[in-house]
Amino acid sequence: MADQLTVAVLGLGAMGAPIAQNLVAAGFAVAVWNRSPERAREIAGARPALTPADACADADIAITMLADDRAVEQVVFGGMGMLSSLRRGACHVGMSTISVALSRRLVAAHKAAGQGYVSAPVFGRPEAAKAKQLWIVVGGGDAAVECASPVFDAVGQGTFRMGDAPQASLAKLLGNFMIASTIEMLGETLATAEKAGMEPGRVLDMLTGTLFGAPVVKRYGQLIADTAFEPAGFRLSLGLKDVGLVLEAGEELRAPLPLAGLVRDRLLTALARDRAHLDWSGLASVIREEAGLPAVRGR
Ligand code: NAP
Repeated sequence: MADQLTVAVLGLGAMGAPIAQNLVAAGFAVAVWNRSPERAREIAGARPALTPADACADADIAITMLADDRAVEQVVFGGMGMLSSLRRGACHVGMSTISVALSRRLVAAHKAAGQGYVSAPVFGRPEAAKAKQLWIVVGGGDAAVECASPVFDAVGQGTFRMGDAPQASLAKLLGNFMIASTIEMLGETLATAEKAGMEPGRVLDMLTGTLFGAPVVKRYGQLIADTAFEPAGFRLSLGLKDVGLVLEAGEELRAPLPLAGLVRDRLLTALARDRAHLDWSGLASVIREEAGLPAVRGR
């Protein structure tokens, strides 16, 4: 099945590169494109393309895994972009975390071009992408989802259908809002414990071993307890982008998200202190400083 299909992957950052490599390993014919072209040459077994249009020219499925709305707009709608070259009946699988508004625009534009659009943002960090352990949040019409489904097994551990494409984009953003809020909660909790002379890792073990055993609490709790904010798995600046997008969606829906406002300001403070390169768990560095602790333990 896989060797009959050609897949284009546009965007070979921390997430896109392992996704492309897993598609090659699964037997798809893979074409890859990245703005900085050297990354395209690093995907063994894939065809490096010169432009998004070149990558998509013979694709049955074209995946975007790009930083943000601006990048997706340039790659899809720009000169030598995807929209002009993807054949009728092929589908675009948008795996980036983007705004609800752009998701809507993509549905309409691809429909007008006779192409399908599936929103398929993911949960899971780069190590999960390498291990094919992503969770994929899928939204779109049945025909487009059917077209996209062969790639999901090759890159993830499971899918959740979430209605139409904009709804799937929103569901992903809401998940990231919950992660960001969890980071805030863990940052406050562990800074307070540390100030009381307790070992943060032991407090975390107690919490995750009793009532808070969720993977996200364990994973981010450990990063925060260790103040291991580098290297970034998910960059703080991308986190700010997502919290901004969830606030934008809430405003459109007339659904206040006061906690998202608080987390947004924490991320902004971290950026103001030149911490854009940190993982977004580095939000906790700001909480630590407010509590009179060093941003990173032992410094
Ligand atoms: P990343 O490592 O920063 O890679 C970003 C990619 O976007 C690179 O290929 C970059 O190209 C490209 N790009 C940025 N601006 C561009 C532009 N204007 N035009 C064309 N290409 C552009 O980011 P990532 O971690 O892979 O994240 C990709 C997406 O997945 C984001 O939407 C993110 O929110 C989402 N996501 C990330 C994680 C995670 O843990 N990292 C988890 C789930 C979802 P260059 O190489 O040329 O810079």
